[in-house]
Amino acid sequence: MQSFEQLGQQARALAGGSTGKVIPIVPAQQLSAAEGEVARVMQICNACRYCEGFCAVFPAMTRRLEFGKADVNYLANLCHNCGACLHACQYAPPHAFGINIPKAMAEVRGQTYADYAWPPALGKLYQRNGLTLSLALVAALTLFLVLAALREGGLEALWGAKLGGDFYNLFPHNLLVGMFAPVFLFVVFALFMGVRRFWKDVKPATSGVDVSGAAATEATGDVLRLKYLDGGHGDGCHNEDDAYTLKRRRYHHLTFYGFMLCFAATAVATVYHYVFGWEAPYDLPSLPKILGGVGGLSLMLGTAGLWHLNRTRHPLHGDAKQKPMDLGFIALLFLVAASGLALWLGRATPALALLLCLHLGAVMALFITLPYGKFAHGVFRTAALLRFNTEKRQPNPVGLGAD
Ligand code: SF4
Ligand code: SF4
Repeated sequence: MQSFEQLGQQARALAGGSTGKVIPIVPAQQLSAAEGEVARVMQICNACRYCEGFCAVFPAMTRRLEFGKADVNYLANLCHNCGACLHACQYAPPHAFGINIPKAMAEVRGQTYADYAWPPALGKLYQRNGLTLSLALVAALTLFLVLAALREGGLEALWGAKLGGDFYNLFPHNLLVGMFAPVFLFVVFALFMGVRRFWKDVKPATSGVDVSGAAATEATGDVLRLKYLDGGHGDGCHNEDDAYTLKRRRYHHLTFYGFMLCFAATAVATVYHYVFGWEAPYDLPSLPKILGGVGGLSLMLGTAGLWHLNRTRHPLHGDAKQKPMDLGFIALLFLVAASGLALWLGRATPALALLLCLHLGAVMALFITLPYGKFAHGVFRTAALLRFNTEKRQPNPVGLGAD
């Protein structure tokens, strides 16, 4: 229990939001400045509750009276940065309370990716994994492959009809598997370890109950539909102004399902190769080609749209410091899709080897940066939605006017 004096201090601290002096509420010694700001705004929102129907954050908030580190990390990863609560808020800047939830949540989200990264030493890459680094990595890996090809077969291997439309003549299948399989396995392991650490912290703060089948099904539906990018009313969220738009949701869907189709194309090709002995290259109307073609186009459209939305976003949405990380990931996805389609269209031209080096360089750069870049937001948000759909099935521990 807190004394009246402590409660009075907290009330003064809450009202002091615009002074730039953040006074963390509970428990002060454990919260960073960004986490303290989320705790502060949540205390105010918990008294106001105007935005209750917008997304999962507000119903989750009403189950709490205090916001510790695990609560704040959980809520930050539940937030989809749709901007609705900023545009609706009567206490948003320039009001003295200075409530900007999308920004406060985004800052903590970025911090959780770094804090929970595995191995921990690589968590710092989140701050550096910007657009320049991503593109430099593509260039370096492409150059490395070009030099390897030159060393193997001279200029003729790099520019000419010597490959006969079959890129395995330049980089044999087993060599490619040997290059990409270990990196892929490392990526899966690193992401698993990171989200496992997050889960261990957040589970006790979200009822501690294991995920049921019903909760998992509902969370999967929330993820696949991107439910919380609908603004709570189905008209969408905000981008550069007060108008609702469904563009962010649609471009995210094009990107996500495009990526999944490309992944499915690779998986089907692997089955063709190892199970049926049908070796690449495959052409239309084979399943890998159809999946890869449709997936690549979808990925290009989705990432081009997300790039545009990111560049025109309202300056008060999110954390501007994370923009290079966001743009780096979008650019890598676009490059992977565009170079893959160019490789297909240019397979009969003398540029095949160069296009192959560019595509492999882009794919490798994407893989290497996956656990330490924007991709992590999908993994951590899915974990948060699983906890949300589990927690909401339990009795409300507060029981004061919750949904
Ligand atoms: S964001 Fe503003 S309007 Fe919405 S619940 Fe919080 S204080 Fe109220
Ligand atoms: S920005 Fe959107 S998703 Fe995040 S808390 Fe506000 S309304 Fe919810």
